[in-house]
Amino acid sequence: MPPRVIAIDGPAGAGKSTVALRVARRLGWAYVDSGAMYRAAALKTVESGASPDDPAAVLSSLASADIQLDLRNHGWSILLDGRDVSEAIRSRAVALAASKVSQIPEVRSRLIAMQRRFAEGAGVVMEGRDIGTVVFPEAPVKIFLTAQPKERAKRRLDEEQEKGRKATLAEIEREIQRRDKLDAERATSPLRPAPDAMVLDTTGLTVPQVVERILVMAREKGFAANR
Ligand code: C5P
Repeated sequence: MPPRVIAIDGPAGAGKSTVALRVARRLGWAYVDSGAMYRAAALKTVESGASPDDPAAVLSSLASADIQLDLRNHGWSILLDGRDVSEAIRSRAVALAASKVSQIPEVRSRLIAMQRRFAEGAGVVMEGRDIGTVVFPEAPVKIFLTAQPKERAKRRLDEEQEKGRKATLAEIEREIQRRDKLDAERATSPLRPAPDAMVLDTTGLTVPQVVERILVMAREKGFAANR
């Protein structure tokens, strides 16, 4: 039996979180943000004073780290050593550090084992970079969400401004490009669409339009939305 998994991968700012959460709600499935796990690992590294560029230091800072996703809150609560770090992991510095620690194969294998456990129970919509290629290659529905770089940077800038943080479009564009390059060029689980993924460019599409397209694919696989 294939797992009841919808895999949503893609680069930063493609709209994965918003879309994945809505699809999960419509299906009554769990939503898992795998990026939050890499971000929590990065936060632990940074807080321990280790350099995210130094794999040995990263692994030693993570040896005793306890990373948990609290699904009661739709996957939004992430706990690091028992502390809710859902907000703390959302900074741009942590995002870049996450792209670095996620290059380390031992970090990936540990978090992937956690991610696979989420599919043991009910259905799950999981978003990330390698969900359709590595974590659940047998997922029946795989989407690779993308959007033009300018559009992705604009969305991220809006998020930053909503949080009252200062940033310019040029800065965000540079950061996104840097992360995409790290994610796409790494040796282990690089960011790329699975051969059987539907690539969906969301530039100019609304969130409800993207959600409906994914629900159509889910329905074709026998997964019905309950509203
Ligand atoms: O999705 P988000 O932007 O929160 O992810 C932060 C970083 O975590 C990504 O830039 C990527 O380097 C890493 N990541 C990953 N594999 C995943 C999810 C995230 O390598 N499945």
